Amino acid sequence: MQKSVMQAWWDSSHMAGANAAYVEELYETYLENPLEVPENWKSVFDALPKVEGVEVESNHTSIREEFKKMAALGPAARMGSSSTSSDSVPGDEKQVKVLQLINAYRFRGHQHADLDPLGLWKQERVRDLELSHHNLSENDFQKVFSLGSYAVGKDKMALGDLFKSLNRTYCGSVGSEYMHITDTEQKRWIQQRLESVEAKPTIDREAKIKILKGLIAADGMEKYLGAKFTGAKRFSLEGGDALVPMLKGLITEAGAAGAKEVVLGMAHRGRLNVLVNVLGKNPSVLFDEFAGKHDDSLGAGDVKYHAGFSSDFITPGGNVHLALAFNPSHLEIVNPVVMGSVRARLQRRACTDGSAVLPITIHGDSAIAGQGVVQETFNMSQTRGFSVGGTVRIVINNQVGFTTSNTEDTRSTQYCTDIAKMVQAPIFHVNADDPEAVAFVTKIALEYRNKFKRDVVIDLVCYRRHGHNEADEPNATQPLMYQKIKKHPVPRQVYADQLLVEGVIEKHEIDKLVADYRNALDHGACVVEEWRPMTEHSVDWSPYIGHDWDVAYDGSVKKEKLVDLGKSITSFPEGHKLQSRVNKLYGDRVAMINGEKPLDWGMAENLAYATILDDGTDIRMTGQDSGRGTFFHRHAVLHGQTDAVAYMPLQHLHDKQGAIEIYDSVLSEEAVMAFEYGYATAEPATLTIWEAQFGDFANGAQVVFDQFLSSGEAKWGRLCGLTVLLPHGYEGQGPEHSSARLERFLQLCADHNWQVCVPTTPAQVYNMLRRQAVRPMRSPLIVMSPKSLLRHPLAVSSIDELANGVFHNVIGEIDDIPSEKVERVIMCSGKVYFDLLEQRRKNELNNIAIVRIEQLYPFPQKEMDEIVEQYAHVKDWVWCQEEPQNQGAWYCSQHHFNQSIPKDAKLTYAGRSASASPAVGYLSVHNQQQKALVEDALTIK
Ligand code: AMP
Repeated sequence: MQKSVMQAWWDSSHMAGANAAYVEELYETYLENPLEVPENWKSVFDALPKVEGVEVESNHTSIREEFKKMAALGPAARMGSSSTSSDSVPGDEKQVKVLQLINAYRFRGHQHADLDPLGLWKQERVRDLELSHHNLSENDFQKVFSLGSYAVGKDKMALGDLFKSLNRTYCGSVGSEYMHITDTEQKRWIQQRLESVEAKPTIDREAKIKILKGLIAADGMEKYLGAKFTGAKRFSLEGGDALVPMLKGLITEAGAAGAKEVVLGMAHRGRLNVLVNVLGKNPSVLFDEFAGKHDDSLGAGDVKYHAGFSSDFITPGGNVHLALAFNPSHLEIVNPVVMGSVRARLQRRACTDGSAVLPITIHGDSAIAGQGVVQETFNMSQTRGFSVGGTVRIVINNQVGFTTSNTEDTRSTQYCTDIAKMVQAPIFHVNADDPEAVAFVTKIALEYRNKFKRDVVIDLVCYRRHGHNEADEPNATQPLMYQKIKKHPVPRQVYADQLLVEGVIEKHEIDKLVADYRNALDHGACVVEEWRPMTEHSVDWSPYIGHDWDVAYDGSVKKEKLVDLGKSITSFPEGHKLQSRVNKLYGDRVAMINGEKPLDWGMAENLAYATILDDGTDIRMTGQDSGRGTFFHRHAVLHGQTDAVAYMPLQHLHDKQGAIEIYDSVLSEEAVMAFEYGYATAEPATLTIWEAQFGDFANGAQVVFDQFLSSGEAKWGRLCGLTVLLPHGYEGQGPEHSSARLERFLQLCADHNWQVCVPTTPAQVYNMLRRQAVRPMRSPLIVMSPKSLLRHPLAVSSIDELANGVFHNVIGEIDDIPSEKVERVIMCSGKVYFDLLEQRRKNELNNIAIVRIEQLYPFPQKEMDEIVEQYAHVKDWVWCQEEPQNQGAWYCSQHHFNQSIPKDAKLTYAGRSASASPAVGYLSVHNQQQKALVEDALTIK
């Protein structure tokens, strides 16, 4: 008996494919109740090795291993016979086949589901879903079989009924993909939700009317805009109208489940509709925007389909605060921003399980498959530093990529959502013309997210009624699709017709709902019944608004306090054995605190964090090596050498200190930077820091610098106090790791949009970080941070220099060089200063002064003028930089340098020649160049 069962198992293509999960499922049933599986399988499982004392094995590794072994042997070897005809499957094996059939529907039913409202999808025939494939036929329809774990609420069913039930559950308007999840509890949970109601729960009249109203609103809004502002771009939702009742339902359910805030991210498609019909933006404001009016207080402003919005929304659980994130046109980049914003809000609410704040991200079908940042966010979703308790991701799948592309050009996978499988997220494909099915999967998705704290995806399969925008002609590129769309009734009509047939509503009632909505728009009144004025958002930005970068602040800390804090951050539990180099470094730090050594960079930086925490301010820092620092200088996290336990002295100052988290990030720049931008724009009270491993890594996050960090305040009025540490310096490491591309940041400077600093001493980095935390102004801080200076014997500071609390935007000459003797003044920033200083001392030149500009933007004109005053007689001024002439500060900041020197003086350049590459690859050439530029700067012709 056992042999023939195994043979049948082997012969089944289904078993050959997804066999592991099928057998696993059978095995789980067996573990729960051995009598529930067919006798033949029971004997197979009985014979498996048992682990003493372990009743139920959670991941079933041993069974998988066992079956792998059998598979490796091959059928003949395993079964001892050459073949067994499937026709001759013994009667009791039909039961096995029935279980296989159930499993096949769970795995592949979605491939036969009715998902495309237009009916254009070409679905392949899936043989696993046919009775004959399982050696079953209609002749077996009357026979009653045990259902295994099929959760329809019965133990047994006639095959005919089961077959219909499976088709209803897995091949209707919902296509469910979840069998790729390895966690049995999650799979069982989803099965229970789907199978118990055959993917079609009973919906009461009230809920149906709500859905209809949502569709009427979605359709009504677009028609209204289309008629009133014909030809204006609005990126209509039409075809995906179900999104509106879906989102309202999702927010309502989230509120009922305890959420206090929902943060949404979406691109332009359907955004105006969501703004008005979900977030409750006043339609008259939108109409004014169409008519060209705008709010001057928002600076440069942005187009209306990128605008964010905030409001409250009443739910059975109370008011829920809604925040739609501002969005550039770069698709999908808003997703990590939303996640960062959610993480900040969760932490503010001291919520560790994600229940208080729900992220909803809305994707396009081509974008979710095409944009790498989506993968980055999935990868982040379960990590310590970036998890948010799961995101509900909705795809507006209108089956057309950006303006014109078809799916064969935009992806290599069957579904646009396949990327979500990398984190085993369940995916619910749903036909958007069946809004009840949409409501059903939305509810499951939310419950899944709340229960398992993981991402979940809803693929809303719809269409796009017009072109990419309303001025576009879609027939030019999608003729057949658009012929079909033209004849296809709008979603509101499809659903209204269904409700008429069901007798839920009368025609005149529908007409009234349509007219009421239109009237509301005519009156310019808010059309969202659930809308409430904002009360639920949990942070007040007003203390941070309206400050200039040079606003007065007190950053000083008493010396005794610094010493106390220094002692705390150099202490760790007894028995926490440090690695020998780290141990030496900590020993040095103790000496620094005892006044036996000057402070180095790492100590000053850690002391800055300690003082900020001591003030009660929270700190969040991420980056690829942030715990120890790329260059082995920070060591804020100590890894015990005997137990690998991580200990962070900064977390153990005292009871009232701020919280600090430092995470070594996922290996991404784009999504991590965007996440931190989202965090910092949602939490002004935390010092948020992102550190690049090398400064040039910031290239991978260019979109975030360009479209959020440098311009978010100008476009959207959103402040952001994010600090970005970018290691920069010419040390012969070649083209890649020398430059953080200072010139790019300087080029983007205007309107005091951010600060660009190049600190050169430990006291300067300490005071720069404290200034960023203590000052009420919130503006991004871009730091060219050092590498070799971390250990440079001249780059040291005294504890008094820290205690005074002053960040010097410009540092004048430090040696005893009488100003009247000076014939040349060199201005510079960063590490080259020490090269110049050492060489000048060596050459004993006392007619050249060196001025360090530590903040290149906003340019500290006042401080510069004060320093320059003493050199009013000097005609020979030099800007010296390590970067090639077309890079660094020379071109972007030259106007500031010229502005600073005496009227009749001349400014010349000492530095590398212009170069396409940031740096040379050969150390010897680098050294020659470096020597030459220092000599050039120090040689008065
Ligand atoms: P939110 O919680 O994001 O919906 O924000 C609520 C309100 O706080 C907004 O309407 C703004 O008035 C203000 N706000 C939120 N974020 C910022 C920010 N980054 N900069 C300035 N004001 C903000």
